[in-house]
Amino acid sequence: MTSMPPTNLLGLERAELQAFFGALGEKPFRGLQVMQWLHQYGMDGFSAMTNLAKPLRARLAEVAVIAAPSIKQDQTAADGTRKWLLELADGNCIETVYIPEEGRGTLCVSSQAGCGLNCTFCATGAQGFNRDLTAAEIVGQVWLASRLLGRGPGRRAITNVVFMGMGEPLLNFDNVVRAIRVLLDDLAYGLSRRRVTVSTAGLVPLIDRLHDACPVSLAVSLHAPNDRLRTELVPLNRKYPLAELLAACRRYVADEPRRKVTFEYVMLAGVNDSLDHANELAELLRNLPAKVNLIPFNPFPHTRYQRSSPEAIDAFRDVVLRAGLMTITRRTRGDDIDAACGQLAGRVHDRTGRRARLARARGEPVRAG
Ligand code: SAH
Repeated sequence: MTSMPPTNLLGLERAELQAFFGALGEKPFRGLQVMQWLHQYGMDGFSAMTNLAKPLRARLAEVAVIAAPSIKQDQTAADGTRKWLLELADGNCIETVYIPEEGRGTLCVSSQAGCGLNCTFCATGAQGFNRDLTAAEIVGQVWLASRLLGRGPGRRAITNVVFMGMGEPLLNFDNVVRAIRVLLDDLAYGLSRRRVTVSTAGLVPLIDRLHDACPVSLAVSLHAPNDRLRTELVPLNRKYPLAELLAACRRYVADEPRRKVTFEYVMLAGVNDSLDHANELAELLRNLPAKVNLIPFNPFPHTRYQRSSPEAIDAFRDVVLRAGLMTITRRTRGDDIDAACGQLAGRVHDRTGRRARLARARGEPVRAG
């Protein structure tokens, strides 16, 4: 007799948990109780789920598991930023970063092991794509972090979740949406839609799909004010050029007057950071419900780029601000532990061979990895 592999309950949204218990011949509301045990109490086993009958707990131990990625490294930076290197069951590694700030705590999660988009300034892009994460692996990052960060009375460590770690979340659409539904569920993490942000390099049809499936906050990695430069930095722009991308952004917030799309713009010295670029950006985003987020470039080994000077960033910001756009410069966080934006480069099995090709192109020895 073949037996089914146990189901990882961390990856199930509310309706799926109810169906799971229904299929066991139990009342579906058992799924709601278990959802609270898993995500509100952070339980990693069934024996202490005291409102379930003992035989049901024993049955669960046979057909289900509560399994998050395992922790390979846990580092805390001088500024309090904490980074975990997590290993998945198949040996791939991903990274999750916690950023504490006054009045809020943001968890930055990964959605894929590696990434296939090849943005030229991104450390993850440089290592190629391996695979999508499962919903359990995405929720597992939040589950782990909330257990490790703890909650005090009336205090929640994680108030915001951003899909700005490794990977392109919209290319792992179904699992990302399933994970978001768990984040938003009152019986799980209870986050508001505003406090969950999906960041995308700009997959136009999937931006529309996200709007219809679960309209959380949207951030778009813009990085350039014209198609020529953007195609150079974000090759995906060839497929979805600026006019189409911005139209999709407009549609995304059209039914909610006060909502804005965040446009991320990584500041690369001598590449996209001149005052002309700033003026072009202000013109491009005129009449759009937009916020601009300037990100000082975070260098990583072998990159061809450098971070813009603080003066260049301030001057750029002032031009965009004067044009009437809400603009902030993102503080670099966790620099001393390589936890800053775009530095997440957990070891992946590089099936695309991209790392080796890049190293060869630069005349460097190729390391196995
Ligand atoms: N694939 C998604 C989400 C992951 S990247 C996206 O493209 O939006 C999250 C943010 O970090 C993006 O805005 C990305 O462009 C930015 N980023 C990538 N590499 C960076 C680097 N080296 N320095 C600063 N920001 C970087």
